[in-house]
Amino acid sequence: MFHKRLQQIADQSLTRSVRVLESATGPVVQFGGRPVILLCSNDYLGLAVHPLVTQAAIRAIEQYGAGSGASRLICGTLPPHHRLESALASFKRTESALIFGSGYLANIGVLPRLIGRDGLILADRLCHASLIDGCRLSGADFRIFRHCDSMHVESLLKRRTPNRPTLIVTDGLFSMDGDLAPLTELASLAERYDAILYVDDAHGTGILGATGRGTLEELGVEDKIPFHMGTLGKAFGSSGAYVVGSRETTEYLLNTARPFIFATAPPPSTAAAALASLDVLQQEPERRARLWANRHYLFHGLQRLGFRLTATVSPILPILVGDASRALSFAEQMLAHGVYAPAIRPPTVPNHTSRIRVTVTSEHTTSQLDEALRAFEVAGRAAHLI
Ligand SMILES: *Cc1c(COP(=O)(O)O)cnc(C)c1O
Repeated sequence: MFHKRLQQIADQSLTRSVRVLESATGPVVQFGGRPVILLCSNDYLGLAVHPLVTQAAIRAIEQYGAGSGASRLICGTLPPHHRLESALASFKRTESALIFGSGYLANIGVLPRLIGRDGLILADRLCHASLIDGCRLSGADFRIFRHCDSMHVESLLKRRTPNRPTLIVTDGLFSMDGDLAPLTELASLAERYDAILYVDDAHGTGILGATGRGTLEELGVEDKIPFHMGTLGKAFGSSGAYVVGSRETTEYLLNTARPFIFATAPPPSTAAAALASLDVLQQEPERRARLWANRHYLFHGLQRLGFRLTATVSPILPILVGDASRALSFAEQMLAHGVYAPAIRPPTVPNHTSRIRVTVTSEHTTSQLDEALRAFEVAGRAAHLI
C-alpha cells in the first residue's frame, strides 16, 4: 500500500531505519557486534549511566512501581514527580515547574495555550519540529524568520496589525547547528512589541551557563524571560521535559495543556533519575568542565583537518556535507573506521545541508578523540570533504 511512497523516499536517499545499539550509551558502545566510538549522543555529561542516577531509578521502581498508573491529575502524581518539580523550580530560581512526558509533548501542549487563531507566530527557520507542530496546532498565522536574525524579527513585528497577539518562538541552543539564539535581542523585542517569547532549551539545559541552568543563564537573560521549557532526556540523561516560570504560568498549563492532562504520567523512575541528575549536575561541575575541554579539542581537531563546520559554539559539531547520499556514504565510511555518527538529512535539516552531526561528551577520553580524528581524516579524504 505504501510501496510507492517508500520508493520516493528511497529515490532521494532519505530512507530512515532504526539501528540497535547493543549496549548502554557511553563514549564507546557495542554496535554491529563490535565496539565503536559514539559521537552522536545527547547524553552530554554521561548521566544516563551515572551510578547515582541509575540507582535512583531502580529504587523508585522498587518503591513506587514501574508505571505511574494514571495521568498526573487523576492519581499518577507520585513523590518523585512532586520532588522533581520542586527541585527544578529551585534550580532554575523560578516560582514553579511543571513536568511533561517529553519535550515533544510539552511543545505541542504549551504552544497552543500561548496563542490562538487570531494571533501571529514568528519562528526561527531552524526551530525544532516539535515547535513547528505546536505552532501549527495553535491555528495562529505562522511566519518564519531568518535563522537568529533579530532584525528580521523586528521588521515582521513592525509590519503586523497593531495589537495583534504575537508569539516569538526559538530554540535556545539549536539542535542541528549548535549555535545560540540571540535571546537578549529577542527578549527586548518581545518587551517592546508586547509579544511572548517562548524558548525551547532542550540542548542548553545542563551544559550551558556557569551552573548548567542553560542558555538563559549563559546569555544573562533569566530575569528577562518569564518562563521557558527544556528537556530531561539530553544532558539530564533521563526522559521528560519541564516548563519553569511563575506559579500562575504552571497552574494555567496544568489546567489547559492537553498532553499534561490526557497522557499517563511519566514513570516514577524517570522522574527520580532526573532528580538524581540534578544533584550530580550540581555536585560534579567537573563534568561540564570536561565536556567543554573535549568540545574544544575535537572542534580544533576537525578544523585543523579542514572540515567545514557550522557556526557552532557548543558540543554539537556538525560537519556540513550538502548532498544526502554523500552524507550517508561519509557516515558509512566513518562507521567502517569505528566511529558512529549518522548522517542527518532533510527534513530534519534544510535541503542541501545534509551533515554529520557530531556530538562529544564529558566522558570521551583524549585517546578516543584522537582515534576518532584519525578516522575523520581517512574518511574525509576518501569523500573529498577535506
Ligand atoms: C529533542 C528536542 C525536543 C524533543 O524533546 P523530547 O523530550 O526528546 O521529546 C524538543 N525540542 C528540541 C529543541 C529538541 O532538541
